[in-house]
Amino acid sequence: MPHIPHSVIALAETLEHRWKTYRDNGEVEFFVEFTLSLNGLTEQFNRRHLPGLVRACQELENTALALYGDSSMHPIPIDQANAIDRQLSIILSELRRYETPAIKPRRVSDTPADDETSCHHQRTVLVISRPQHPWTAALFEQLNFFGFKPEEARWNKQPTTEEPPLAIIFIPDKEGSAYSPDEVAGIMALRTNFPTSFFYCLSVPANLQSIVLLQRAGADACVPAGKKVSDVLSRILDLVQTHAHEPHRVLVVEDSATAVAHIRRSLTQHGIESRAINDPRLLLEFATEYRPDAILMDMYMPFCTGVEVTSALRQIPEFHSLPVIYLSSETDIVQQVEALRLGGDQFLTKPINPVLLASVVKTKIERYREMLYSGHHDSLTGLLNHSTAKGHLERMLHAATNDGRLVVAMIDIDKFKSINDNYGHPVGDQVIRSLAWLLRGRLRNSDLIGRYGGEEFLIALPDTDLDQATALLNQIRQDFSSLPHAHAQGSVRVTFSCGVASLPDYLTTSTLIEAADAALLEAKRNGRNQLLIAPTPSQGSVVRMQVKKPAGSRL
Ligand code: GH3
Ligand code: MG
Ligand code: MG
Ligand code: MG
Repeated sequence: MPHIPHSVIALAETLEHRWKTYRDNGEVEFFVEFTLSLNGLTEQFNRRHLPGLVRACQELENTALALYGDSSMHPIPIDQANAIDRQLSIILSELRRYETPAIKPRRVSDTPADDETSCHHQRTVLVISRPQHPWTAALFEQLNFFGFKPEEARWNKQPTTEEPPLAIIFIPDKEGSAYSPDEVAGIMALRTNFPTSFFYCLSVPANLQSIVLLQRAGADACVPAGKKVSDVLSRILDLVQTHAHEPHRVLVVEDSATAVAHIRRSLTQHGIESRAINDPRLLLEFATEYRPDAILMDMYMPFCTGVEVTSALRQIPEFHSLPVIYLSSETDIVQQVEALRLGGDQFLTKPINPVLLASVVKTKIERYREMLYSGHHDSLTGLLNHSTAKGHLERMLHAATNDGRLVVAMIDIDKFKSINDNYGHPVGDQVIRSLAWLLRGRLRNSDLIGRYGGEEFLIALPDTDLDQATALLNQIRQDFSSLPHAHAQGSVRVTFSCGVASLPDYLTTSTLIEAADAALLEAKRNGRNQLLIAPTPSQGSVVRMQVKKPAGSRL
């Protein structure tokens, strides 16, 4: 069970207190405060990657925002207030299920798997299907393998689990045709019981009516008929471990100190970091140094207009798609259209509504990040691509120079060509994906995992000793070798070899990678399915490797 820091608990208590205050006196100001702290709490849950709580908070936020703008609606009708009460108590009771942190210093002997991220993996996934559905066994095997706790239940019987499952997977009786009314009713009933779980409906026919119906019943994701079970697993893995949350960063370009104060206050209230400059001529220097995810640009400033600055900024390749949001009292539509044509993304008119501002900024930043994400990640596995992985390694190395602990590993699947040759390319792809998932499942969010080449992976483990790292990687190697990969005639087992190098034996990214690669090559020569550590340079030019015997090996 993940820990929730006291600061987040305090934020939730403030939220509860603000809601009580509003319920007592019905004044719109208190409702605004309640909505603002709700937004802050969502942000915190998002940052800690608690998808269930984020989902519940976002639903409550939507309810609150619908009542936010119109002061004549306050105090809100009793049934709406009761609905908010219910949504709030779902969040608070879900929150109480998490432990608050005890004083638990990190032990030196802690392996990376002991880290906070691994606790997400011990989560229940409920599978609802008819008895002995052929997909269930395969799904169970895979879920178990990746560290989830699968449980089974029937359509016509409520499950006995008390703890809300991380996800519920629905497998309809008839593949590819609309869900029956009983099945839809079953989903609805579970949605009431488990408001924070993620609901995946499998085998949904590709028509809008079916999808809308299931979404109304409570489905979060409708997986089209014909998609493989493996696709669902990939989504569940995404749910528990996305990329480390980075705060949203905004650069405000605005000559009025009063406007800057107002804007920055609104941004801070919504958990958005910002910096401001009052002279547009400083923009390039600041943007290069601060690396904002979006720019809020005043339209009228001394020296030049916001539009001129933006169109100049667009000439520089690295800022070509950085979101620019204009802030202006300009209400002339023709002018606004012209400003957008010349490179802006959105126009907000002053005085700026803080909730709208935060929502526009976050949406633009998320889209921008999604775009960057697809440029940085490999589409088959979702891992970092070659060049991005190398760039990250460079930064990790930079950050590791203080404590000097960083382990780099190169992994290459053994005799992979024969998998493609014997079973076909799609089976080969699935083997690559399985290894990627296994690595994602076992390593921490702070570790680097990149797809370095076709069936080659680059891994970097910061704050980790060589012994810890080799033990972990060897465990992954053994587990991978026992994973069956399905093909048309049955299943096949595959192994990988691994070469490892670490600080301070090797001090640059290129020497670390080269040394790990040389160790990998030696592991291949040595018979494959093993991990070898690169020798320290002082051991001379003779490549003496420390052999870690693979399980069952006769070496
Ligand atoms: P070794 O144990 O020495 O590593 O042998 P190997 O067969 O794995 O080595 P080799 O590098 O010769 O073969 C790698 C093969 O991986 C060649 C290429 O066709 C295949 N490959 C590369 N990328 C992909 C991919 O995305 N999908 C599939 N299915 N195959 C790929
Ligand atoms: Mg101005
Ligand atoms: Mg290779
Ligand atoms: Mg290979």
